[in-house]
Amino acid sequence: IHPFGKMTTLWERMATVKHKILVLSGKGGVGKSTFSAQLAFALSSMDYQVGLLDIDICGPSIPKMLGLEGQGIHQSNLGWSPVYVDDNLGVMSIGFMLPHPDEAVIWRGPRKNGIIKQFLKDASGIDGAIIVSTPQQVSLIDVRKEVSFCKKVGLRVLGVVENMSGLRQPVSDLHFMKVSETGEERDVTEWALEYMRANAPEILDMVASTEIFDSSRGGAAKMCLEMDVPFLGKVPMDPQLGKAAEEGRSCFIDKKCRASQLALKRIVDKL
Ligand code: ADP
Repeated sequence: IHPFGKMTTLWERMATVKHKILVLSGKGGVGKSTFSAQLAFALSSMDYQVGLLDIDICGPSIPKMLGLEGQGIHQSNLGWSPVYVDDNLGVMSIGFMLPHPDEAVIWRGPRKNGIIKQFLKDASGIDGAIIVSTPQQVSLIDVRKEVSFCKKVGLRVLGVVENMSGLRQPVSDLHFMKVSETGEERDVTEWALEYMRANAPEILDMVASTEIFDSSRGGAAKMCLEMDVPFLGKVPMDPQLGKAAEEGRSCFIDKKCRASQLALKRIVDKL
C-alpha cells in the first residue's frame, strides 16, 4: 500500500521486491514450471522471502506443482493477495482465477502479448533470466531466440538450464521386461532384483543412466559457449522429480529424488 494510502500499481509493488528472476523457455513442456517450482521451494528453505508469479496464461500448472490446486486468491479492495505455501513462500497464478483446473485461459494475440510486454517493460528492474531447455536441437534453437530476445530488451541472461538431460533412476526402481520375438512382454522385475540381491547387491545401490536425446552436438553447454551466456547445469529426467512436481512437493526433502536433487542444488548454488 502506498504511504498515502492509495493503491499502488503492480510496478510500484514489484519495486519492493529485492531480486527478480525470470524463468523462460522457448517451448512448452521443457520443464520451466517444474524448475520454477523447485527453485521457489529451494530458496524458501534457505529462509528467503519468496514470491512465485506464474504468467503462464495458456496452461498454468504452478498451483498444482506447489500443492495449491483448488485454492483461490483472495480479492479485497487492496487488490489480490497471493496464496501461501508457507509464511515465506507466496504464489500468484492465473490458475487460481480459473473456476475449474482443466480450464485454460484463452488469451491470444494482442491480449497475451500485451500482458507479457507489460511484464517485460520493466526488464531493467529484473536481475536476469534463466532459460530452460531440453538437449534437443528443436528446443535449443528456441533458446537462441530467447537469448537474442533478452539481449534486445536489455535483460541479463543468468544462464541456461538443460533439463531432461538423460534419464536417471535408482536401479532398485527399474522394471525389467523380457520381450519375446512376437513382442510379448513379461515382467521379470522380481526375478531380476532377486538375482542382483543374491549375486551383486551393490548394483541395487547404483543409479541407471540413459541418454534419451542425441547429445552428440554438445547440447546446451556448447550453445552457451557459442552465445557467450553462462551454462547453469543439467537436470536429468527423474521420474521421482516428476512425481514430486505432480504431488506439489519439494524434491529437496525427498531422498528418492536424489538423482535430480543434487543437480538442482548445484544450480541454485550458482545463482
Ligand atoms: P513447462 O512449464 O515448460 O511447460 P513442465 O514443468 O510443466 O514444463 O514439465 C512438463 C512435464 O514434464 C511435467 O509433467 C513435469 O512433471 C515433467 N518434468 C519436467 N522436468 C522433469 C524432470 N527433470 N524429470 C522428470 N519429469 C520432468
